[in-house]
Amino acid sequence: MTKTCQEWEINPASATDYLPPVQMQTLQLARLRATVTRAYDYVGLYRRRMDEMGVSPEDIRTLADITRLPFTMKVDLRDTYPFGLFASPLQEVVRLHASSGTTGKPIVVAYTQEDLGVWTDAMLRTMASCGLGRGDIIQNAYGYGLFTGGLGAHYGAEALGATVIPISGGNTDRQIMVMKDFKVTAICCTPTYFLHLLDRAADMGVDIRELPLRVGVFGAEPWSDSMRRRIEGASGIKAYDIYGLSEITGPGVGSECCCQAGLHIFEDHFYPEIIDPTTGTPVADGEEGELVITTLSKKAMPMLRYRTRDITSLMREGCACGRTLRRIKRICRRSDDMFIIRGVNVFPSQVETALLAVEGTLPHYQIVLTREGGLDRMEVQVEVTPAVSSDKVGAMEKLQSKLAQAINQTLGVRVDVRLVAPQSIKRSEGKAQRLIDRRNMQ
Ligand SMILES: [Zn+2]
Repeated sequence: MTKTCQEWEINPASATDYLPPVQMQTLQLARLRATVTRAYDYVGLYRRRMDEMGVSPEDIRTLADITRLPFTMKVDLRDTYPFGLFASPLQEVVRLHASSGTTGKPIVVAYTQEDLGVWTDAMLRTMASCGLGRGDIIQNAYGYGLFTGGLGAHYGAEALGATVIPISGGNTDRQIMVMKDFKVTAICCTPTYFLHLLDRAADMGVDIRELPLRVGVFGAEPWSDSMRRRIEGASGIKAYDIYGLSEITGPGVGSECCCQAGLHIFEDHFYPEIIDPTTGTPVADGEEGELVITTLSKKAMPMLRYRTRDITSLMREGCACGRTLRRIKRICRRSDDMFIIRGVNVFPSQVETALLAVEGTLPHYQIVLTREGGLDRMEVQVEVTPAVSSDKVGAMEKLQSKLAQAINQTLGVRVDVRLVAPQSIKRSEGKAQRLIDRRNMQ
């Protein structure tokens, strides 16, 4: 019989997840003060900004004083490329990672041996939070290399005592063979890539539901609850959302638990705040805004109040799993994902939620923006199930207008919906490309 989540054994490494809040805050304050002192002493950019604002490390006396500190933005990492934000000499840096920017140079992040230990601890607790442990066989399909996903998940899963298959991304047919032959119980990858695996498995005559696979540890891109329902329905696994970003450590900043109701932040290492993205001021607890994170344990590259661009809220309520770590709502959108069409702000995730609520669609879609005669046009292309696709034209037309109506209701703008055959939208082996904006190409 499947155990309810409260009956899961607590991994000893997860003890901090259950710390009484007062103890957690004491720990956070001590670590915050040490981090700010380190950043001020060793990183020119932080010293300059704090001097300009007239704030010194000694001014941080309570956790609330964090709002006196300057923000850090992605552009700061670009401007100081490659090593300008390091607080440790290179002799102490044992690992570098980099994330490819959309333009120009990548951003570089650094780890001391101790930082790697913290990261491993956070990823171990992530895996434990998704119900994994010794005896699990984990197929790690996150990319190994400069991207933090692969090695982050790898070290966490090994520290957990699970059996790790470091297969990395790509080579889908081999992934399916390994999953089947090695009796894999959990997979780590982007939700988009898992959908791709499901499709390919079906083509190869492999029914994922009949394999021992029971858990998906999915992250590195925003995805909606409707997408989760589709994935779980099609595969019979539990699909957990995890959160992280290279600038802070990589994966392992936060994770869902058995309740699948918000992500616990490992706040003994990563201190969360929510701010109004326009004014930069903190919002009230429970209100939506931009997630800002300060690292509390990092040595090589401390981050003060890093603006993630991810839109979420801190949840007030305690969690049924018993963890005392605060939770954030699932991140379905990023402030830089947003596009404006005819004056209306739109996030791809809103389209996703509206689309997938309608029967007959597949979780593969793309939004194409064009400009015709000075007017913006938005077309949503969505794949339909083979049953709908082979049906009479009437059924297609009905579905099309139903979808257009659903999106129209959600967004308040008129969009064109184009139904396309299964498998016709290009698949991604990493993050999905949901938006194609051709407005400035015409
Ligand atoms: Zn929980």
